[in-house]
Amino acid sequence: MAEVTIVGAGVIGLSCAVRLLEAGHCVRVYGRELTPGLTSAVAAAVWYPYLAEPRDRVTGWSAATLAEFTALSARDADGVVMTPGTEIFREPVPEPWWTSAVPSVERVVAPRPGYAEGWSFVSPVIEMPVYLPWLAGRVRELGGTVEQREVRSLDELDGIVVNATGLGAREFVGDATLEPVRGQVVYLEQVGVDRWWIDDSALDLGVTTYVVPRSRDVVVGGTEDHGAEDLTIDAATADAIVARARALVPELADARVLGHNVGLRPSRPTVRLERDGDVVHCYGHGGAGVTLSWGCADEVVALV
Ligand SMILES: Cc1cc2nc3c(=O)[nH]c(=O)nc-3n(C[C@H](O)[C@H](O)[C@H](O)COP(=O)(O)OP(=O)(O)OC[C@H]3O[C@@H](n4cnc5c(N)ncnc54)[C@H](O)[C@@H]3O)c2cc1C
Repeated sequence: MAEVTIVGAGVIGLSCAVRLLEAGHCVRVYGRELTPGLTSAVAAAVWYPYLAEPRDRVTGWSAATLAEFTALSARDADGVVMTPGTEIFREPVPEPWWTSAVPSVERVVAPRPGYAEGWSFVSPVIEMPVYLPWLAGRVRELGGTVEQREVRSLDELDGIVVNATGLGAREFVGDATLEPVRGQVVYLEQVGVDRWWIDDSALDLGVTTYVVPRSRDVVVGGTEDHGAEDLTIDAATADAIVARARALVPELADARVLGHNVGLRPSRPTVRLERDGDVVHCYGHGGAGVTLSWGCADEVVALV
């Protein structure tokens, strides 16, 4: 069994840690930032393969992750709730490319006023402020450690290393192909919303509209700003997000604004998941790190 150091304590690093510990390895996790101060804590997070490539590998990782989240929800894992919802389209579209990852998808005609059709399925919603501490707890229960520590270079580490640094891989391994894709969200009061909605019809304008219900709030988004790194909340953007969410889900009309957040998705032309000597790289999951987490972790174990 190997001594493995995982650099990165986001959803990717922690999921890899759990799987490696389950396989009998000795694991320590170092994260420059720990939850809640990282991108993974901002994720909405609904299982949905978005802004991640290549499609064939993404479909496999997504399917494996969906199966694991389904099992975790049945075992009452913290923050994992199977939730029905619909991706909606203004024009009729062919069946989306990722549907083979989902056990059952239903085409719906005119799901909302102004929308031609949609694709409905039951998807896990992962409440990240609850789930990430649960995941870190699983690592410790299984005998691993999670420490706040920055690693400046691979030379500082011995044994097998899993590089799960997300956007940090720009500096950590000098990967210039990574691009931040800024996403802004608003937290609204939970007023009884029990379905998620996704409308990506305005993505070419850098706008995506989603409504994701959680136990104590409803996450509404969002934006897709390629190359933007500003973590300050833009008030006009927040107002527009709330207006779009309320137009889509009228129950939110009087829901109070509870808070705001911004995160930078670690986007890359393709997810990097490969072994190079003693280093297994696993980063660049774009807008789908939660959606791909368990499938990628399984592959990391195979590579270790
Ligand atoms: C607004 C928004 C909404 C989203 N919604 C969804 C969604 O609904 N579904 C979904 O699947 N995904 C969603 N995502 C995407 C998801 O959040 C990311 O894909 C995912 O969090 C990436 O996880 P990660 O562990 O690779 O990165 P991170 O969470 O960024 O973690 C990286 C870790 O590496 C550490 N690190 C970096 N460099 C170093 C270093 N040199 N030394 C030590 N540690 C280091 C960091 O401190 C951190 O601990 C969303 C993202 C945003 C911004």
